[in-house]
Amino acid sequence: MSAALRILVTGGAGFVGSHLCDRLIRDGHEVVALDDLSTGSKANVAHLLNHRRFRLMEHDVTQPYDVKVDRIYNLASPASPPHYQRDPVRTTMVNVVGVHNALKLAEGCGARVFQASTSEVYGDPEVHPQPESYRGSVNPIGIRSCYDEGKRCAESLVMDFHRRRGVEVRMARIFNTYGPRMALDDGRVVSNFIVQALRGEDLTVYGAGSQTRSFCYVDDLVEGIVRLMEHPTETGPVNLGNPEEFTVLELAEEVIHLTGSRSRVAFRPLPQDDPRQRQPVIDHAKRALGFEPKVPLRVGLRRTIEGFRGVLGLTRHAPGLASESDAPLPQAANG
Ligand code: NAD
Ligand code: UDP
Repeated sequence: MSAALRILVTGGAGFVGSHLCDRLIRDGHEVVALDDLSTGSKANVAHLLNHRRFRLMEHDVTQPYDVKVDRIYNLASPASPPHYQRDPVRTTMVNVVGVHNALKLAEGCGARVFQASTSEVYGDPEVHPQPESYRGSVNPIGIRSCYDEGKRCAESLVMDFHRRRGVEVRMARIFNTYGPRMALDDGRVVSNFIVQALRGEDLTVYGAGSQTRSFCYVDDLVEGIVRLMEHPTETGPVNLGNPEEFTVLELAEEVIHLTGSRSRVAFRPLPQDDPRQRQPVIDHAKRALGFEPKVPLRVGLRRTIEGFRGVLGLTRHAPGLASESDAPLPQAANG
């Protein structure tokens, strides 16, 4: 294990952020999760709240804050289309002002910053699969642009702070990631389908379901994020995701199969600007970080289904313990 570090995780009570906090605590670090709980929840970190190396700071990243840390993982942002379209102006500001505040803090205390960018910077891609060199096809005035352009502007700020002001940066373009602790009302395809299947409701497939996505299990993503942060020189942007590509209809059928549900597929209108295809080229992550997703879709879906069964009260599983990676934490509960 590397030396113990003081680490800030913005968005630390969210889906990815809470799994990242688990990993960092397990690695022996001191972790502050900064979150306004707008799309995340205290329940995601409930099992960490009494840990002596963990602190939850309820705060909005667009407002100034001050903590002395060695690492900043900047994950705060609504991430699902329904969440980020609810208040699009705020989404842009959270991404732009949020990363600006993180970068200024890093400049002041000499911390290294990881920026959670997204495959959305590629928009509805004309190049398939997408390498990091592809510059994307984003509609700058569409209903997704608050998020897509917010993240693109954030990438620009990250690189300018690096080039002009010497801040150490790391940046990953994250492709669709799923797992336990996605919010029930998140609206993303994996959580929607699982919740619908477990409730015996129709699975809402948008369009004909022929659009594709590549789904990465959260533990694989977290491994890639930590490897990138601790790489001595690699700044990124680096694609992180699982290149196995599925149509949305295939995903629906797999979820019905794995849940044993009697639910059926119901077709709904395709949202505006919905990307037709998405698959990462991860050669760079493989070469630079030794990153290789290990969890096949079926295995990851099983774990996620178990997590949602717990949340929905269909088993005795506690939501905070839903991931197989959630082994008991070292030095727990000593205030
Ligand atoms: P999430 O909504 O579960 O987590 C985001 C967290 O940020 C939440 O806890 C939320 O409360 C917090 N937050 C939002 N606005 C905030 C603010 N103004 N101040 C403080 N906290 C705030 O979503 P997630 O899937 O865990 O996404 C985490 C990050 O990863 C996001 O930056 C997202 O853009 C990025 N990402 C995720 C995926 C994915 O598939 N999960 C893909 C690409 C990029
Ligand atoms: N989708 C769907 N049904 C749902 C939710 C999403 O068919 O209930 C589709 C959506 O139109 C998109 C894909 O699934 O084509 C992935 O959507 P998600 O919101 O998970 O992520 P993103 O579009 O940002 O990749």
